Amino acid sequence: MTFKELGLSAPLLKAVEEKGYTTPSPIQEKAIPIILEGKDVLASAQTGTGKTAGFTLPILQIIAETKNPKYRPIRALVLTPTRELAAQVYENVREYSKYVNIKSTVIFGGVKPKAQIATLRNGVDVLVATPGRLLDLHNQKALSLNRTDILILDEADRMLDMGFLRDIKKVISFLPSKRQNLLFSATFSKEIKQLAQGILRNPVMVEAAPENSTAEMVVQKVYRVPKSKKASFVTQLISEGNWNQVLMFTRTKHGANNLTKKLIKKGISAAAIHGNKSQGARTKALREFKQNEIRVLVATDIAARGLDIPLLPHVINYELPNVPEDYVHRIGRTGRAGASGEAISLVANEEVEYVRGIEKLLKQKLQIEELEGFDFSEDDMQESSTQKQHQQRSQRKKQGERKSFSRNSSEKRNSSDNKSQHPQKNKPKKSRWRGNKPKDSRK
Ligand code: AMP
Repeated sequence: MTFKELGLSAPLLKAVEEKGYTTPSPIQEKAIPIILEGKDVLASAQTGTGKTAGFTLPILQIIAETKNPKYRPIRALVLTPTRELAAQVYENVREYSKYVNIKSTVIFGGVKPKAQIATLRNGVDVLVATPGRLLDLHNQKALSLNRTDILILDEADRMLDMGFLRDIKKVISFLPSKRQNLLFSATFSKEIKQLAQGILRNPVMVEAAPENSTAEMVVQKVYRVPKSKKASFVTQLISEGNWNQVLMFTRTKHGANNLTKKLIKKGISAAAIHGNKSQGARTKALREFKQNEIRVLVATDIAARGLDIPLLPHVINYELPNVPEDYVHRIGRTGRAGASGEAISLVANEEVEYVRGIEKLLKQKLQIEELEGFDFSEDDMQESSTQKQHQQRSQRKKQGERKSFSRNSSEKRNSSDNKSQHPQKNKPKKSRWRGNKPKDSRK
C-alpha cells in the first residue's frame, strides 16, 4: 500500500515524501480512507504508531477541498492533554500542510496569550489546543468554534486522567452539532467508552496495535538494584555504554529533581521535565534533549505522555510505575516508528510487587536479573523493609480515609486503568511497518 493509493492529493503526497515516509503505518492505512469519507472514527492507537499523520493528512485534504475562498473560520480543532503534545501535533500539521493553502496554530497555557490571540485574529483553519487555554480564549471571544466541523480528541484517555472531562464537554457545547469526530486513545476504560458514546456517531473502529502490548522491537531488561545504588548503576550504564540519549522515569516530581541533580554531579548532562516546571523550562529541556545537547531527560509519567522523540534508543525506569499501564506508555518511547530500542527497569525491594502487576497486564513474564556489585546489603534490606511497613501503614490509612471520602480522580484513574479491557489482545503482535532508520549520531 502506498500513500497515493490511500487517496491523498499531490500536495500532501509531496509533503509526506519530504518527511521521508515511504509506506503508510498500519493506523494510517486504516484511518486515512475512512476519515476522507467523512466518517467518525474511534481509534485505538498510542504515540509512536504514526497516528498524528493518520488524522492530520485526511483533515488537511478535506479542508483544502471545501475551503471558503473569502474567510478562514476554524474548521478543525485538535484537543490534546499536554502542552508538549499540542506543540508536537502542531509541528506535524505545519509540515504536512506545507504545499496546501491552510493555516494552523497552537494554543496552550503557561505562556502569555497575546501572540496566540493575534494569530487567531488573522484566521486559522486548523487549531491545536489544550482544553484550558482554549476555553480561556473562547471566554475572551478571541476565537469562535461556530464553524468547526471536525473535532479530534488526541490521547483521550490521558485527557480524562488529567480531569479534562468537564472542559471537553464545555468545548463540545460550542461546536456545531453536525460535525465529524475522531477520537484517539491508547487504552479503553469504561469512562473512555462513555465519552465516545456521547460524542461519536456510528464510528468506525480502527486499531493500530493491540491494547497494552509492548512494542515488538523493544528489548526489555529488568534488574534488581537496591534503591541506594540506583544512581551509581545508571551512571555506570550511561558512561560505559556511551549512551547519548536516555529518557529516565521517576514516579514523583521530587524524585525527578533529585535524580537530575545526582546525574549532573556525576558529570552526565541532564534535565527534568514535570508538572512543577515552567512551560519555558519544559520546552527548553525537551529541545536540548532532542538536539542531543543533554544526554538524559528525567520525566514523570504525565509530563512524558505523548512525547515524540524519534528513534529514542534507551528508556530507563529508574523507578517502576505503580500503574501497570504506565509501563507500556513509558517503554513505548523507544522502539518508535519501527526502530529497535532498549527499556531497562530497576527494581528495588519494595517495587517487586509492581513487576507482578506489569506481568499480569502484559501476560508476559519479565526475567529479573541480579547484578554483580549491586547486591542488597543488610542496610538496603533494613531500609526497604521499613519502607514497606511505611507503605503498608499509609495504604491502610488511605483505605480508612477512602471509606469516609468520595474517590478522587487519580484513584478513579488507577482503578479503571488496572482493569485490562481486552486481556485476550495483550500479546505483542507482529508489524511489518518499518519507519525511519536511526541516525548515525545516535549510538
Ligand atoms: P506519532 O505516533 O504520530 O507520534 O508518530 C510517531 C513517529 O513516526 C513520528 O516521528 C513520525 O514522524 C513518524 N512517522 C509517522 N508516519 C510515518 C511513516 N509512514 N513512516 C515512517 N515514519 C512515520
